[in-house]
Amino acid sequence: MTSSSNQVMAVGEILVEMMSLDKGEGFVEAQTIRGPFPSGAPAIFIDQMARLGVPTSMIGAVGDDDFGRTNLQRLTSDGVDISRVRICPDHPTAIAFVRYRQDESRDFLFTFNGSAASEIDQTQIDADVARCSHLHIVGSSLSMPAFADYVAKAVPAVKARGGTVSFDPNVRPEIMKDPVMYQRLDSVLDQCDLVLPSEGELAHLCRLATDEEAITAVLKRGIPEIVMKRGARGASRYTQDSVTDHPGFSVNEVDPTGAGDCFGAAYIGFRRLGYFEASALEHACAAGALAVGQQGPMEGAFRRDDIEAFVRQNTQS
Ligand code: ATP
Ligand code: MG
Repeated sequence: MTSSSNQVMAVGEILVEMMSLDKGEGFVEAQTIRGPFPSGAPAIFIDQMARLGVPTSMIGAVGDDDFGRTNLQRLTSDGVDISRVRICPDHPTAIAFVRYRQDESRDFLFTFNGSAASEIDQTQIDADVARCSHLHIVGSSLSMPAFADYVAKAVPAVKARGGTVSFDPNVRPEIMKDPVMYQRLDSVLDQCDLVLPSEGELAHLCRLATDEEAITAVLKRGIPEIVMKRGARGASRYTQDSVTDHPGFSVNEVDPTGAGDCFGAAYIGFRRLGYFEASALEHACAAGALAVGQQGPMEGAFRRDDIEAFVRQNTQS
């Protein structure tokens, strides 16, 4: 337990990822599967943040099973405060199956329904918020009502204490069928200090034709900062009066899952460690590039020293 009130906190799904080693479509026929890998977008984010040396805590739930234990062991060994991760006796840890198609797009199969993922303890929100100076939300979590309720209470409470909120929309088409999702995502968007969309996500969320229109609209709505992830092409940061682009570092992509979460954690984490925006953006691109070089979603989270060394090695001519 820690009495710090300066933690970066993430709330959302903790799960294991099972990765198909056979390219193709879906999970109907028998295939070679590698896993379990610790995973869940908010969990990857918080693990990367902890690996930078920033104080962190996680709000989530796992089953009392090996899939839960592999996650808790990883988060603990990387320094995340897991005192608020509930170990649920009567629900299993959630699983995500992932398979790459020939064109590099991905099929996902999630077992959230009936799993422990959103069986969080809602009664301690005030104490959670008191320990936290920054809260990170991932859009995919908001498809689960328990997380939506928690977030609806925690976000204004963090802001009222002078804390900040970041938001990765992570809008996957399969979770966007319910119109209430748009309301939940919109509400977090309006309250966040930083939004971290992938290309196309902000346009989708704002129901506009292009990202350019959406960036203008979102800044006009009063969201102060947008950092857009552009895969191998790097990232761009937008505020009311500035645009900063950073190209992607040249690396061999092995597995892109989790790169966006490592990127976001590095951007926020390096800012908290005292780096200026442009340098934080550079280090975030480095963290994303390092992440795509590793198989397994959380395996690509690197330590502060390694990310700094990568930037030094790749910016010297
Ligand atoms: P996901 O949701 O799958 O985790 P994302 O769409 O949120 O991913 P990406 O744009 O895929 O995020 O990746 C985040 C960042 O990582 C990019 O902005 C970029 O800086 C870096 N990155 C991603 N892919 C590559 C690549 N192939 N080469 C170099 N850098 C990359
Ligand atoms: Mg993403």
